[in-house]
Order: sequence, then C-alpha cells, then structure tokens
Amino acid sequence: MISYFNTIFKPCVNTLMNLVPGKKPVSQYLRIIRDGFLPGRQIFCEMVFILTTKCTLRCENCNNLMPCYKQPYNIPSDTIISDIYSFLNQIDTCVKLSLLGGEPFVYPDLGKVIDEFVDNKKIMYLSMTTNATIIPKEEILKRLEHKKVVVHISDYDLPMQKVDELIAVFKKRGIKYTHKKDVDWVIPGPVTKRGKEIGQLKKEYESCYSSRYCRTVLNGKAYLCARGAHLTDLGYMDEPHDCFDMRKKRTKAEFRKEFRKFYLSDYAMACDHCDHALNISVRAGVQKTGQEEQ
Ligand code: SF4
Repeated sequence: MISYFNTIFKPCVNTLMNLVPGKKPVSQYLRIIRDGFLPGRQIFCEMVFILTTKCTLRCENCNNLMPCYKQPYNIPSDTIISDIYSFLNQIDTCVKLSLLGGEPFVYPDLGKVIDEFVDNKKIMYLSMTTNATIIPKEEILKRLEHKKVVVHISDYDLPMQKVDELIAVFKKRGIKYTHKKDVDWVIPGPVTKRGKEIGQLKKEYESCYSSRYCRTVLNGKAYLCARGAHLTDLGYMDEPHDCFDMRKKRTKAEFRKEFRKFYLSDYAMACDHCDHALNISVRAGVQKTGQEEQ
C-alpha cells in the first residue's frame, strides 16, 4: 500500500500550489490540512470525469487512445452529473475536479455540467484541459470566467491549434488558464499485454504521475489511470483490480473505506499495457491518417 501522505496529502498541496500561477489563500491550505488529517474527513486531489471520447485531433501516441474509438461518443450529461454526485456525496473535499475529453469544448452540455458544480462547496477548483483547436462559444466563455474555473491549454505546436487566439480571449475576459508547451511525449506503446511481473508493475505505477495525481471516472467506474479507463472501455483490458464501481450501493462509511483502499492501490494492471517506463520520447501531437490500431 503506498502511503497516504505521498499519494493523497502531498499531491493535494502540490495541486493547489501549481493550479494557476499566483498565491492561493491560506484558508485553502488550512482546508487541505483539516480534511487531510482530521479523523472522519476525506479529501482527494484530482478526480477526472470523462465527458466525451470525441476529439478534434487524432494524435498518434495518445495515452488515452482517442484515435482507437471507431465510434466516439458523448456521455449523457445526466449520467455525468449523477456520477459526479455519487463521488461528491461521500467525500469532504476534491481539490480539483476535472472535466475531460477527448476535447471538452466539443461536449454539447458542457455549460450544464459547469452550472451544476461550479458553486459546489466540496470542489475547490473545476478544470478543463483543451487542445486549443476550438474557441469556446460565448455561453461557455461566460461560465469559464467563474473564479473557481481553470482551463489547462495543451500546446503541441500544431498548425490547427489556436493557442495564441485562445490565450488572448482568456486574458481579455480574466479567465484563469495555464499554458503548457507539450512538444515531447513518452510513447505508451501498443494496447497489448506485456506480461510484466507484479514487482515491475508496482515500480512503474509508483513512479508514474497518474498514481499520485489523479483517478479517472468513465461511465460510472473510477480507474487507477486514464489509460486503463480507455483500455477497458475499448475492450483491450478487463481488470477488476484497476476499477471501482461508483454506482454500487454502499453506505457512506463503506464507500469511504473501499474507495480509499482502491485509491491507495500500489500497482495498476494498466501498466502492463504501457511502455511509459521505457521513457522513449516522441514529437507530441503527430496526427494519424488511417484507422489503424494503436
Ligand atoms: S498505464 Fe501505468 S505507466 Fe502508463 S500512464 Fe498509466 S499509470 Fe502510468
């Protein structure tokens, strides 16, 4: 079992510190200490909820396998809202709740989901990560102006990205954002199983960002890694160890105990379908042309 301090408390503090440039109120750090250490309180650093597998790009080496979806789909907003509540109702604080795709700005009900949660007291910040190919419509921009919303821009330096235009709009409207030049990726490799030993899986998972910083929810199930969520959704993996059914009926105490145990798992079977540990770099965002598999 990897430690509570390294997997929950420290990532909560780091997430808050690095969320957007600038100082955060001391009260927010005190809240992390309170919900991180007081008995009976429960805090998590980042929960990612997948809204859609539709994306405006088809990147080779997409860790989340978007180009493998032959029929990309939107998850109905009522399902997303109910799944987010099934998490929030059981916990005290989520430092960052992320709405992700695919590309979240293609999701038709993004405004409805933001409206539902932006003032929820259990969420400290609501975030979206975009590939900057779309300038959101006015109705979305208005919602992004909320003080709790942050947009992360992934900049792969591709001609179809509108990074400068998007940043100009965000600056003008006072929308909080981060801009990450993400020009090198580590190759995740094919979707197939490699047959790694459990010790190797533990080593790889522990050294990966995913183990410390987020869990991903797709269709009502939380996964230890976003790649695992999509490997499962696409039928390449079926590992009960890596997933937690958020929709199963449990008491609050049962949910807390079981979810915390799941969250602190010290390995993920998804790492057996991933070459990140080999650390081979490749140019980010190179576009696929055919329908061939990853
Ligand atoms: S599968 Fe494992 S190594 Fe690959 S991104 Fe997920 S946690 Fe990291």
